[in-house]
Amino acid sequence: MTNNLPCGGIKRVATLDDLVERDKNHDCGGFGAARVCVRVEAVAELPSRFGRFRIVAFWNNRDGKEHVAMVHGDVMGAEDVPTRLHSECLTGDVTGSLRCDCRDQLEVALRRLASMPRGLLLYLRQEGRGIGLINKVRAYALQDRGLDTVDANIALGFRDDERDYSIAAHMLASLNIGSVRLMTNNPNKIRQLEQHGIRVSGRIPHVMPPNDYNRFYLQTKASRSGHFIDFDGKEHLTEQDEPVLVEGMPMNPEPPL
Ligand SMILES: [Zn+2]
Ligand SMILES: [Zn+2]
Repeated sequence: MTNNLPCGGIKRVATLDDLVERDKNHDCGGFGAARVCVRVEAVAELPSRFGRFRIVAFWNNRDGKEHVAMVHGDVMGAEDVPTRLHSECLTGDVTGSLRCDCRDQLEVALRRLASMPRGLLLYLRQEGRGIGLINKVRAYALQDRGLDTVDANIALGFRDDERDYSIAAHMLASLNIGSVRLMTNNPNKIRQLEQHGIRVSGRIPHVMPPNDYNRFYLQTKASRSGHFIDFDGKEHLTEQDEPVLVEGMPMNPEPPL
C-alpha cells in the first residue's frame, strides 16, 4: 500500500449521507509520514450566518482530534471544487484576537464559498501552527517578553511551523473530491496537497476586503510578507500561513517557504 493514495483510492458513494456507512470499517495504509487515516463519523445540516452548509465530522487514527468539513452544494465526485483549508485558532476564530487575522480569513472564506454553486472548507484542528493551544499561549507570553516569534517557538522545542496537510488530503479523498481549486495565497500549500496525491486544478486568491477597522492591520501584514507587526512593534507569525492580499493593494512578494 502506498502512502500517496490518489482520491480514487477510496470507494465512491452517491451522497454525503452514505459516507458514514461506507467508512464504518475503513482502514487504509494512511496518508503522509504519520500514516494518518480518517473516517467520516457523522453528517448533518449546518445552516450558518455565512450561508447554507452541511457539516461532516471526521475521526482519525492518530490522536483525539476531531476535524470537520463544511460543505456547500454538491461536491462529491466534482472537479474544480473551491476549497479552503483553515487551521484552527481558538483565540482568533472564537474570541476575535487581534494577534492574528484567522477569524477574518475564516469568515471571508465561508462567505465566499457560500456564494458559489459549490464550495468546501476543511476546519483542521492544528491549533497554533500545530503546536497546540497551551504552547501557543506560552509562545505569546515569550513574545510579550521580547522574543521574536520564531525564537519563541524554538525555545519551546518546536519548529516554527508544525502543520501537516496529510489529514486534509485524506479528508478530500474521503469526500470523493475529483479536484480542488484551492483558495489560498500560498503556493507551498498547493505543493503539499499534491504531494499527498490530491489534484489541484487551480488557485483562487484569498483576498481580504479591508474595512475601517482592519485596513491598517491587513496592510501592515501584507506589506511585511506575511508577517504581522503588533501594536507593541513585535513580530508574529501568521497562523494561517497566508500572505494576505488586500483588495486594492498590489500583490505582495512570494511568501517565505
Ligand atoms: Zn484511510
Ligand atoms: Zn490565529
